[in-house]
Amino acid sequence: MIKKEINSCSNGLVEEIKKDYRASADLGLNRCIQCGMCTSNCPAARHSNYDPREMVKMVLDDNEEILENPDIWNCFYCYTCQSNCPVNNSPSQVNQILRQKVLQIGGKNERIYQFLTYGYSFMEFGVGLIPTDFFEIRANDFGEKYREFKDKLEDIRDELGLGEYILTGEDQEEVKNILIESGFKKRLKTFKEAGESL
Ligand code: SF4
Ligand code: SF4
Repeated sequence: MIKKEINSCSNGLVEEIKKDYRASADLGLNRCIQCGMCTSNCPAARHSNYDPREMVKMVLDDNEEILENPDIWNCFYCYTCQSNCPVNNSPSQVNQILRQKVLQIGGKNERIYQFLTYGYSFMEFGVGLIPTDFFEIRANDFGEKYREFKDKLEDIRDELGLGEYILTGEDQEEVKNILIESGFKKRLKTFKEAGESL
């Protein structure tokens, strides 16, 4: 049975998102009924002004102002919205595509550049470590226990018999070479320069 598309508007932003390679073939973007389930279950919405339902609405309205909204950078891709959506829409996927669009058109806001530290962490250690800039915020959110846990992480891992949590030696070099060959390092540099000019 072919599902009826509830919102039948066909416009730039919607089509762009549906055609993006990150979008699932069965993404229910046009079927969004604005029920708000995504927002009511979204952890980022609980702790900030970010609103996945509103984000989807603005996309359906082809309202490009959503690209300038710094709150879209609060999503952390937990996919709770996708698993709760009754029409198989994925605000999470929509968000990823919107963010890439912001980067492609050279959008600038301070929130974007906080993510650069993840990129540099990939280059240096082969994994995306939580940026040190966020330590204080997390310590405030989670209390002193978090700071203690971070400080003693290596000892705790040792005690549990776990190995390094960063890549080392040849593995690290291999990831670094992939990131250089794929143009990631160059792109990172471009974004860093754009961030510095803010
Ligand atoms: S849960 Fe799905 S249908 Fe409901 S508002 Fe969010 S995206 Fe739309
Ligand atoms: S993926 Fe993003 S939008 Fe969806 S529930 Fe998680 S934080 Fe919210």
